[in-house]
Amino acid sequence: MEQELTYKKIAVVGLGAAGGLVSVLLTKNPYNNVFGFDFKQPFSTLLPTGGGRCNITFDEDDIKYFVSNYPRGEKFLLSVFSKFNQVQTRKLFKDLGIDTYVQKDKRVFPVSNSAQDVAKKLSSHLNVSNFNLKKEKVTSIYKEDDYFVIETLKNRYHFNYVIVATGGKGFEHINKTEHTIIEPKASLCSLDISENNYYKLSGLGFKNVVISAGNYKKVEGDILFTHKSITGPAIFKIAALSAYENFNDKNPLELNIKLTISDKSDIEDEIKNNCKKSIKNVFSKFAPYKFIEEVMTVNGINPDKQASQLNKTEKEILINSLINFKVHVKGRIKNSEIVTAGGIDLDEVNSKTMESKIYKGLYFIGEILNIDGYTGGFNLQNCWSDAYICSLNF
Ligand SMILES: Cc1cc2nc3c(=O)[nH]c(=O)nc-3n(C[C@H](O)[C@H](O)[C@H](O)COP(=O)(O)OP(=O)(O)OC[C@H]3O[C@@H](n4cnc5c(N)ncnc54)[C@H](O)[C@@H]3O)c2cc1C
Repeated sequence: MEQELTYKKIAVVGLGAAGGLVSVLLTKNPYNNVFGFDFKQPFSTLLPTGGGRCNITFDEDDIKYFVSNYPRGEKFLLSVFSKFNQVQTRKLFKDLGIDTYVQKDKRVFPVSNSAQDVAKKLSSHLNVSNFNLKKEKVTSIYKEDDYFVIETLKNRYHFNYVIVATGGKGFEHINKTEHTIIEPKASLCSLDISENNYYKLSGLGFKNVVISAGNYKKVEGDILFTHKSITGPAIFKIAALSAYENFNDKNPLELNIKLTISDKSDIEDEIKNNCKKSIKNVFSKFAPYKFIEEVMTVNGINPDKQASQLNKTEKEILINSLINFKVHVKGRIKNSEIVTAGGIDLDEVNSKTMESKIYKGLYFIGEILNIDGYTGGFNLQNCWSDAYICSLNF
């Protein structure tokens, strides 16, 4: 079908990852007149991503595996990614002047390793005459006759098309769009634990642990103990899976953490084969010495004992600390979340176009949707794909 050659006036509300990219793509068509609303600089929300390096996406071709990394949005994204996936994203970024590379763990970063560089390069595409930046906070969006009204703290505007991309926080400005908003909750966040006797664990990290908790699926990844809390990609996964549960002292979530890839029999063999060595030497093959020392202190085990002198209970305690270390989650660390669960109900948005099923001409993209993914580049990939698909409507 031939594209209509009429000028279109399009509002993009929020110029973070999703809104910024859709604006870049829309302005490539000179018939689109794009008005971008944000009180921040375009793409500035990218600056802290990936620890300042911007983890753009994840390099995995198996789409089913890819979408299994989203506790909310899996089915919706199967449709979205079948139209625009991580391979196409990397190609698009290359076309926009941003080369990427894949790290050993499959996370994709810009060759510059700089989120600032990504933000700068993407922003440079907005220096065009058909992009109008409105540095205003939008307070309300609603339909009036044939138009959408956008109210800001300063002005009132009319548009035929509005793309909302205001991220995972604050939904007041869309209250009048008649969409269902699933209650926002912290998704990727650090967890508060009851164990306060392990003073010296703070700062200790473990790679590729396996965590089992309640009825949630087992998760794998790195963890880090901090003062009175536990964090890291594997903890974020548990936090995301349990985003809508409330934990407290009386109703904690028990985490069973396998801190080493070795099994019970490997550890028992090590004890048997090194019975003349000190316990701390034998066990520090499986975990940092500081950890073993702390487990021994907390459980009153003499660290200078030889392995052969361990009694049955002591052996059990030490082995379990490695293969089934238990901590109890009593809450979430306030404001530690980097992504929120909840947002616009996906049943009310068309995954083929990102258009609202309630109002024609209204679109939602990015984290404002009830979509959240694990760490690894999954949250930004949602933004890039939503933005690209949305841009195809114009
Ligand atoms: C510290 C940190 C690190 C992260 N690292 C990664 C990573 O490496 N990889 C990854 O995939 N994900 C990462 N994420 C998550 C990722 O950044 C977000 O999922 C993504 O930015 C969401 O994009 P968005 O466009 O939907 O919203 P945002 O990027 O949050 O953009 C929303 C924009 O809307 C504007 N806005 C909001 N309300 C209004 C209003 N009323 N009027 C006008 N403008 C408004 C805001 O100012 C903002 O600019 C990280 C998040 C954080 C916090």
